[in-house]
Amino acid sequence: MKITFFSTQPYDRDFFIKGNAAYGFEYTFFETHLGPHIVQAVEPTDAICVFVNDKVTAAVIEVLAQKGVKVIALRCAGFNNVDIEAAKAHQISVCRVPAYSPEAVAEHALAMILTLNRKTHKAYNRVREQNFSLNGLLGFTLKGKTVGVIGTGHIGAAFCTIMAGMGCRVIAYDVQINPQLTKSGITYLPLEQVLEQADIISLHCPLTPQTHHLINASTLQTMKKGVMLINTSRGGLIDTHAVIEALKSQKLGYLGIDVYEQEEQIFFKDLSENIIADDTLQRLMAFPNVLVTAHQAFFTKEALEEITHITLTNIDALLHHKNFTNQTALLV
Ligand code: NAD
Repeated sequence: MKITFFSTQPYDRDFFIKGNAAYGFEYTFFETHLGPHIVQAVEPTDAICVFVNDKVTAAVIEVLAQKGVKVIALRCAGFNNVDIEAAKAHQISVCRVPAYSPEAVAEHALAMILTLNRKTHKAYNRVREQNFSLNGLLGFTLKGKTVGVIGTGHIGAAFCTIMAGMGCRVIAYDVQINPQLTKSGITYLPLEQVLEQADIISLHCPLTPQTHHLINASTLQTMKKGVMLINTSRGGLIDTHAVIEALKSQKLGYLGIDVYEQEEQIFFKDLSENIIADDTLQRLMAFPNVLVTAHQAFFTKEALEEITHITLTNIDALLHHKNFTNQTALLV
């Protein structure tokens, strides 16, 4: 059985080749994204394996069906980039990795908060140049601050627990309440109240038509002056232009983003020798109180092992008609 992978980096190939010992699949790896530009060139294959920025549109799925694809396997949790209805219409199964290491992402959100707050990235460079001054490095104590969490699924719940452990007051909004979190002292409030009360806001809901540009000019207006905003979920949750205006007016005091609306042409690539044409990203990175990481929140050894294991188990079960036990992983 053949699996064709898209958007692969050396580490993806290493983990999937190692994980294949138990399955014996035949692999083809593409470094490029999946999209209309490449789909015609794909050789017949039983399954495709895609990541966050592959564009698995209805038109792409139609060609994949002609190539004999029976399974679309996402090696990530979010699935906003796959046309689920089109897959269903072509009787192609779609699976994902609903939870591999929620703590990996939650811990990265904390890393972003601490970096923005305590400016360790600046301190590191300063002392290497023998500048031991503290001017400009003033932070704030996290204990006692109010942290607002939007989306309390696997990652949001892990993040709530971490922030409660830091001594913060944690308030949350989700369309579904997690009673375990309520028991452990996390308070659910309407979205408007979370945005109004929080000193730090962290986004952990999926990108859907309802959550697209959840953070926009009018929701930014309702927040505290100087609030810190962290997004490790999906770039489309934030209206980037509105956020730039809020940074300029100092309404937004800090911004930490691991995801960006237009990231697919930029993230996961070494562009250090290139001229970047995206003026919006360049403007964002010019602010001293903005931290951008390139979709690395998931990137731990434990997470990659789990992603590999779950993805191959999913594909194996679907191609060999085995019992599919991981129901939340199956989208079609
Ligand atoms: P999850 O499905 O476990 O949780 C998502 C939560 O969001 C659920 O509790 C759901 O009820 C809630 N939700 C849905 N619609 C909402 C809305 N309109 N308002 C508020 N809450 C809403 O997902 P997860 O594993 O916690 O992952 C969350 C997101 O993180 C994923 O969708 C993905 O986009 C992103 N992610 C990013 C990385 C990274 O490396 N940066 C890695 C993994 C996942």
